Amino acid sequence: MSESDAGALTRAIQSAWSGQPSAKAKRYIGAFFNASRTGKKIVAQVEGKHGTYTVSILLDEHGISSACSCYIGKGGGCHHCDALAFAFLQDKKSFTKIAPTRFENVNDLASLEKYLQGVTLEALIKKLSEQGITQKAFAESIRMSPRHLSAIRSSELRHHYFHELGATKLACLWVLEHIKPE
Ligand SMILES: [Zn+2]
Repeated sequence: MSESDAGALTRAIQSAWSGQPSAKAKRYIGAFFNASRTGKKIVAQVEGKHGTYTVSILLDEHGISSACSCYIGKGGGCHHCDALAFAFLQDKKSFTKIAPTRFENVNDLASLEKYLQGVTLEALIKKLSEQGITQKAFAESIRMSPRHLSAIRSSELRHHYFHELGATKLACLWVLEHIKPE
């Protein structure tokens, strides 16, 4: 039997954050709100020096990674990410478990919104490329500059959201449904 998502995530976080939290990280450990876990990803928010930051830790086929919307947290590694790791290890129950919405179950605007929130543009572009459609070709087909598409894609991963993020995901989904690989 395979290990539960929560169990796998816990073990990965334990091995990546095995030491003690720094003094800077400690201040944030009990301060998170809107904490949730979807599968092997946790997300929470915290009040930082320059506003509210969104912080996440994800375990996927590439291993464990973290990201934060603060100005140094682009690729993870800031003390908010460290604090989130320790907050999860200390009190997993404070993270609301969210069941991912499956694409087949999208049947109204509310479920569409949930689905779009639960899938990254990165993942959708990867699916396109598995169907033989490059990021560049997709961007050009909807008359978006490939550079702009890249910006939308990478910004989402560090919790900065372009207004057209949802619409771009929808465009990907349409292409995935309707344009079949040759
Ligand atoms: Zn940060």
